[in-house]
Order: sequence, then C-alpha cells, then structure tokens
Amino acid sequence: MGVLNEKPLLILGGGLMGLALAHELAKKGKRVEVLSRSRHEAAGFVAAGMLAPHAEGLKGSLLNLGQISLQRQPNWVKSIEANSKMSCGLKNCGIVVPFETQEECETYPTYKFGKKLKREELLNEVPGLSKKWKLGLLFKQDGQIDNRRLLMRALEKACVELGVHFQEGVEVIEIIQDSKKFKGVKVKDINGNINHLQSEEAVLCCGAWSKQIFKSLPIFPVKGQMLSIQGPKQILKRIVFGPGIYLVPREDGLIIVGATSEREAGFDNGLTPKGQSELQKGIQSLIPQINQLPHMERWWGFRPCTPDEGPLLGMSSINGLWLATGHHRNGVLLAAITSELIAKSICSIPLNDEEKKLFTKFRWDRFENH
Ligand SMILES: Cc1cc2nc3c(=O)[nH]c(=O)nc-3n(C[C@H](O)[C@H](O)[C@H](O)COP(=O)(O)OP(=O)(O)OC[C@H]3O[C@@H](n4cnc5c(N)ncnc54)[C@H](O)[C@@H]3O)c2cc1C
Repeated sequence: MGVLNEKPLLILGGGLMGLALAHELAKKGKRVEVLSRSRHEAAGFVAAGMLAPHAEGLKGSLLNLGQISLQRQPNWVKSIEANSKMSCGLKNCGIVVPFETQEECETYPTYKFGKKLKREELLNEVPGLSKKWKLGLLFKQDGQIDNRRLLMRALEKACVELGVHFQEGVEVIEIIQDSKKFKGVKVKDINGNINHLQSEEAVLCCGAWSKQIFKSLPIFPVKGQMLSIQGPKQILKRIVFGPGIYLVPREDGLIIVGATSEREAGFDNGLTPKGQSELQKGIQSLIPQINQLPHMERWWGFRPCTPDEGPLLGMSSINGLWLATGHHRNGVLLAAITSELIAKSICSIPLNDEEKKLFTKFRWDRFENH
C-alpha cells in the first residue's frame, strides 16, 4: 500500500494500457488514479485479441518486443486472474497464415519461426479453406486472449480490488508543467466543470487520441471495422490470418472477423458499407461457408499508430510524464511487456540488459533525426 498523504500517480486514459499500468503499479504498492474519458471507445474493447508477433510478420525490434511480451503473457494473465478472480480467456491456439505461392510463403518476414504446411496439411488445420491457398505457415507459439469480453473486465476488477481509484467520464484537456517538470493536469468532467489535479507523476495512455493532449507526439488513428459470427463450438481450432482479413475463433464458437485498416478515416465514427463489404469478401476468400453462419455484431475502433508502427515507451520530454502509447495493431500482445517495463522504471526497479536495450529502441525521440 502507498503512503497515505502521497499524491496519486495519474493514469491518463483508462483503455488497455491504462488498466494494465494501473494494475501493475498498484501491485507494486503505488497509489493510482485513472482518468478516463470513455471506457467504451477504448481500442482494448475493439481488438481481436490476437497474440501474433509471428503471424503478423513483425520485424526487427518490434518482433523482439512482441516475442518477449508473448513469453510473459501467461504470468501476466495469471496475476490479473488471481487479483480479479476472473478468467481472461488466454488460449494458446496457434495461428495459420495461408499463401497462394511458394515465393510469398518463403519471403514472409517470420518464415523461419513457422511450420510449413502443404495443401493437405493446411486443410487439416483449417477445414473448408478455399482452393486458392496452396500452402501455409503454422505459428504454434501465437495465440489469443478474449480482450473484449474478459481481459478488459478482469483488469478493471483487478484494479478495483487493489485499490485503484477511477474517474470515468473525465477528459484530460491540458498537461500542466513548470520548466519541463510535470505538475498535474487540467480536466473536464461530464458536467463541464474544469478542475486542476496536482501530481508529480503520470503515464499518458490515451491511445489514438494521445496527440490531442501532447501535440508533439507522432501518433495518428488507423480505423478498424470488425464483425462477429456465431459458429458451432470448435468450428475452427486455429486462428486464420490472411492478407487484410483474419478469423479468430473463441472458445464458444464465436468468430471474430477483422479488420479494415483505414488510415484516411481519421476519427470518423461508424461502420461503412465499403468497410463491411471488405470484411465479407475477405471471409469469402478464406472460408466461404463461414459467411453462411449468423452475423452477430459489428463495431469499429481506432489503433494508435506511429510512423514506424512501434510504440512510444518511457519518459517523455516532460520530466515525470511517462509514455505508454502508440501500440498500433499489437497493443494486446504488447500490454504485458509495456506495463512491466514502465512500472519497473517508475518504481526504480532495475531493468535487465535486454529490457534496457528494448526500452531505448522505443523512445519517443527516435524519429527526431529522420
Ligand atoms: C480493429 C482493431 C483490431 C485490433 N486487433 C488487435 C489484435 O488482434 N491484437 C493486438 O495485440 N492488438 C490489436 N489491436 C490494437 C490494440 O487494441 C491497441 O493497440 C490497444 O488497445 C491500445 O491501447 P491503449 O490503451 O493505448 O488505447 P485504448 O485502448 O484505445 O485506450 C485509450 C483510452 O484513452 C482514453 N482517452 C483518450 N483521450 C483522453 C483524454 N484526453 N482524457 C482522458 N481519457 C482519454 C479513451 O477514452 C480510451 O478509453 C486492435 C485494434 C483495433 C482498433
């Protein structure tokens, strides 16, 4: 438990990173206050929940960060489940990436981490896969977590159990600083009242909206539309990850279908006929029979993207204001390592050499010399 008269550390944004950080810091005895404009707009409730550094074909330091986070997921989830007494729906189901040609398969960035599948083996893993896919890669190490229905709720509950304080419907409208030292934030509540909250430390976790309160951050939204289909249980055992389309089978037969990637849409809310028909065509190109099953729900959200598609981690240019944002399409995967590295740094717990190296690779100022 934190010292009682200590000002709480502020978490700006109560989405996936905000909750993951609040939980990790509360575990370490910090007093934490989460300021959240709107929980339901968080990409944490939108994502498909794939844990897919290999299937996504990540490269370089981002692949490295993803692989380390994947290794840490089981323990991370265990601690959330222990504190919340809820399941997070972690499933080590493996992901199949199908290809039309040998060349596409062998030049896939993560080729060496997968098991090559011939057409018959591919069909065995993904029954009903359409004829155009001639071979595939199976990444057994990749998996999924049921972020939308379980993980986010479990994180909220775990935080509350550990004494984290929440202010929902509160928008941070300004960061207050004095000579590059963080002093607190100006907030607007749902009644339009403006207040100042003082604090010496905060973590900025505003996802795709981060630039609205910290203008120099190179973050922009990439809209994604999704839908879900109810299949019979075990209709698919693996996730299928095709170009621009993926099918994520949950334990109860619900199939999450994603996702469009719309860089020009800005923060345009809502579904579009073009986006939804793209998903429909994508399903047709993978497993046509799945389109015959009942469609259940459609939704959208905004990925927080940066110019190199890697996150911004560590201390910002304002002393005392940490960054945990910009995780683009891999935030669910990267939540475990992000919350661990930042919480350790805040609590002055030494990082090992590998962690230090990774942390430096994702500093906010890496774009400044380009
Ligand atoms: C369609 C789609 C599919 C995805 N699929 C996957 C996947 O399969 N696997 C994977 O690893 N990742 C996936 N992601 C990415 C993942 O969801 C994000 O990277 C992750 O949720 C980012 O977390 P965050 O906390 O930074 O942002 P969010 O979860 O979006 O949370 C940000 C929060 O900040 C709040 N906020 C914003 N501005 C303010 C303010 N001024 N004051 C107070 N609060 C504020 C918002 O209300 C919001 O609740 C997907 C994303 C999308 C959109």
